[in-house]
Amino acid sequence: MKHFDFIIVGGGSAGCVLAARLSECANFSVLLLEAGGEDTSPLIKMPAGAVSMVPTHYNNWAFDTAPQQAMANRIGYQPRGKVLGGSSAINAMIYIRGHQQDYQDWAHLGWGWDDVLPYFIKSENNQNLYNDSNSKDLHGHNGPLYVSNSYSNHPIADAFVDAGVALGYPHIDDFNGFEQEGMGRYQVTQYKGQRFSASRSYLEPIRYRNNLTVITNSEVAKVILEDKVCKGIETLDGKIFTAEKEVLLSAGAIKSPQILLLSGVGPKEQLANNNIKLQHELDGVGQNLQDHPDYVSCFESNRTDLYGLSASAIPKMIKQAYQYFKNGQGILTSNFAETGGFLKTDKALQRPDIQFHFVIATVKDHARDWRTSLKHGFSNHTCVLRPKSVGSVTLKSNNPTDCPIIDPNFLAHEDDVNTMLAGVKMANQILQHDLIKRYQVCSINQDQNLDDNELIDKIKTLTDSVYHPIGTCKMGLLDDPSAVVNNQLEVIGIENLRVVDASVFPNLIGGNTNAPTIMVAERCADMIKEKWLNN
Ligand SMILES: Cc1cc2nc3c(=O)[nH]c(=O)nc-3n(C[C@H](O)[C@H](O)[C@H](O)COP(=O)(O)OP(=O)(O)OC[C@H]3O[C@@H](n4cnc5c(N)ncnc54)[C@H](O)[C@@H]3O)c2cc1C
Repeated sequence: MKHFDFIIVGGGSAGCVLAARLSECANFSVLLLEAGGEDTSPLIKMPAGAVSMVPTHYNNWAFDTAPQQAMANRIGYQPRGKVLGGSSAINAMIYIRGHQQDYQDWAHLGWGWDDVLPYFIKSENNQNLYNDSNSKDLHGHNGPLYVSNSYSNHPIADAFVDAGVALGYPHIDDFNGFEQEGMGRYQVTQYKGQRFSASRSYLEPIRYRNNLTVITNSEVAKVILEDKVCKGIETLDGKIFTAEKEVLLSAGAIKSPQILLLSGVGPKEQLANNNIKLQHELDGVGQNLQDHPDYVSCFESNRTDLYGLSASAIPKMIKQAYQYFKNGQGILTSNFAETGGFLKTDKALQRPDIQFHFVIATVKDHARDWRTSLKHGFSNHTCVLRPKSVGSVTLKSNNPTDCPIIDPNFLAHEDDVNTMLAGVKMANQILQHDLIKRYQVCSINQDQNLDDNELIDKIKTLTDSVYHPIGTCKMGLLDDPSAVVNNQLEVIGIENLRVVDASVFPNLIGGNTNAPTIMVAERCADMIKEKWLNN
């Protein structure tokens, strides 16, 4: 048995932030436990290496979802990083905070835009945006998280933006500025063309600290509770570590609720059905799963400089590899989704309700359809930003090595189907503009000339996650029966236990979720310091 002040479970986006910020206090001893391995692989550093991880089990939990009732009972896919850096080690690196108004929805919890902005700024080290008129005082330049323009500027990714602008959508230089609506290039969490995951940004520079212990390949089975006080954790191989101050669950939106349930914290009936002794009844654990449903329009192209494998592409790829290793430039620095947009399906809306990710490769079934991925081409993802369908994470059994039942419940709400339909039609209009159409050989989904009913069928046949699950340990007010943590992210009814990761979002923000998760951890680290440094 070993003792620490703080035990952090999971070295992903949030866990790495906590490890770095808490170990700044020399008198705190901090243990970080990560189920996956070290993040030394060059395939993590090289942005294009994501293609070796997202569709496979390499550094990836690669979960299956429950059959999706509203989508012909298809089983969906939920990749999640299993390595230091967590999902930020395998993600598409897009730096998005969400719409400012999204945080006003959290203002009643004390997490409004003015509360969270200082933590976005604190975390950020933006290499390119210097607070111009659209982003005045919004960007940080001294934080650990490198953010930069892409080092790959693929002309076809720009052609998609140009087509949208030609149709009248605004061009946006900074999606994190005051105006989000429009089309443009994404900024990425990279430095000089390399991925900067949360591990590389936060952990690597401070790994030497004597008060920080990092143990990889160590999976936590449950937290240890005595009379509703958290005392420590137990790993799958039976090791026990105790925490003098707090245990912080940062295992992500799928595994954090699973750990709570396996520890006896959750809905009474579910625990009883799985022969788990009830420690504390908390109905919200694992409920409120929200994720962005995503439809991918996919085209084969006549451009062999797009990703794909052909005889003529091989010498070009060798040249690109040389360029990457010599100068950190070229297509291997690409995050694939170089450009995109945030648009409104109804002009009267106050915030964009759909997002595009334009990808310089053919993406079918999360690139698990290898034969399609070998074709040169491009794809556009359309996702619904504030879905009304809500799902859950529940236990399959009391065995911690069993994957939980992940049910995002995609497209269960009719409004989500209609928003998706409107969004895909807008995407198709752009894709049919000559500025981008000229590079198409054929539509792989054959979805360009369908009537609404046919397109809805197609959407139900092909929609799946764009990898932003949140909300399964929801932050809420004490009178909210579905709340799992309070606004300090403390598990309600349990002492010395917090959840600090994407699971605490009360609802999905309109954008990608890595930067918001890092913001949440930055702010919570200050809350933890304030509590324990003043006691
Ligand atoms: C393929 C993909 C692409 C994405 N693209 C983007 C993007 O471009 N931009 C963006 O903003 N967001 C993106 N996201 C989402 C974003 O990366 C996540 O929202 C964010 O990383 C979540 O952070 P987290 O700390 O909640 O969880 P994670 O980063 O997933 O961290 C959880 C960590 O806990 C570990 N863990 C789990 N269970 C245990 C256990 N029992 N014991 C010990 N350790 C455990 C895991 O191995 C993992 O390292 C993407 C995600 C994926 C998967």
